[in-house]
Amino acid sequence: MAEKGQDIGINTRLAHIGPQPSERHGFVNPPIQRGSTVLFPTAQTMRSEGQKYTYGTHGTPTTDALCDALNELEGSAGTLILPSGLAAVTLPFLACLSAGDHMLMVDSVYAPARRFCENVLKRMGIETEYYDPAIGAGIEGLIRPNTKLVHLEAPASNTFEMQDIGATAAAAKKHGCVVTMDNTWATPLFFRPLDHGVDISIHAATKYPSGHSDILMGTVSANAETWGRIEAANRDLGLCGSPDDAYQILRGLRTMGVRLAHHMESAIAVAEWLEQREDVARVLHPALASFPGHDIWKRDFKGASGVFSFVLKADKPEDHTRKAQAFLDALTYFGLGYSWGGYESLAVHVYLGDRRICKGPTDGPLIRLQIGLEDVKDLKADLEKGFAAARAA
Ligand SMILES: *Cc1c(COP(=O)(O)O)cnc(C)c1O
Repeated sequence: MAEKGQDIGINTRLAHIGPQPSERHGFVNPPIQRGSTVLFPTAQTMRSEGQKYTYGTHGTPTTDALCDALNELEGSAGTLILPSGLAAVTLPFLACLSAGDHMLMVDSVYAPARRFCENVLKRMGIETEYYDPAIGAGIEGLIRPNTKLVHLEAPASNTFEMQDIGATAAAAKKHGCVVTMDNTWATPLFFRPLDHGVDISIHAATKYPSGHSDILMGTVSANAETWGRIEAANRDLGLCGSPDDAYQILRGLRTMGVRLAHHMESAIAVAEWLEQREDVARVLHPALASFPGHDIWKRDFKGASGVFSFVLKADKPEDHTRKAQAFLDALTYFGLGYSWGGYESLAVHVYLGDRRICKGPTDGPLIRLQIGLEDVKDLKADLEKGFAAARAA
């Protein structure tokens, strides 16, 4: 094959990333290499670990095919695959933090990551302090001599606040902190954290890379500076993703560009339509000009995926839950479920009771939507049913 250019389009890249078919007798896709035991030809090779593969938990040709593809997409020195997105979020914390350390975490973080800090890290003597996503370079004011890690997530889970990632990362790096970012919403197609000063880019591959609501996987892609530490910590923890799942995620990557283009277009169409409605107080979508973080999104991101939220208009707080539940129960195509990134649309009434700094909206219940690959006219008709039910409730 001709030399791969740097300026090729993203869909061309997705179709050709990873080990080449010529390395596997011309078959387009890699084989699934399962295994725990790996044999060595001699006692000396065994003693020196003098071959590429040594044990199933340390990687297989199939998991490496996915890691190579992700390194190319993220611009990273190395990628780990893990059994879930949550495991991917928590692994860099375990790798980089010790008793007595302090970590700064964005307050609008994916909620289970906060629970990990409060339940596990606290017990290990590691303190977590939450910061406002709007802080930018002001993060410097929160850094203490023992601050070792700053965690970002943008846009935020459920409320979609943007962060000035470059400014936050630069300020944190000035003080020697490791900077990690959960980039699940954007995927490396719409944002590459390492190009903006982040050390470690984290994904729930469960979402868009899988694309079909049937795989759980997390990925951690690190720059050259942090990769050794991340890989060593994972050797100690023994976390790994299965070759079968890695195969499916690599398969998902091939179509992720066309799927995301469709998710983006449909989600923006639905968001704009919602914004015009009397039933809706506000729409929280970074691609809408009305959204407070829109300028940052426009400056730094190449696109928007299919997940956003809106505030259902309900003036009295005592009406919020009843109206939200009436809305959700009237939907047919939108399933009620938590994960996202699959081909099907989803809706959930968001709980934000764990927030400390960026509290949730008070002008109505917050509904998060994932816009799937269905036709927009059918999704709008479904939402119409929800609004009628909420009005009547
Ligand atoms: C879903 C999600 C995760 C966790 O992924 P799982 O594979 O479900 O554990 C982490 N971060 C974000 C932003 C997510 O949306």
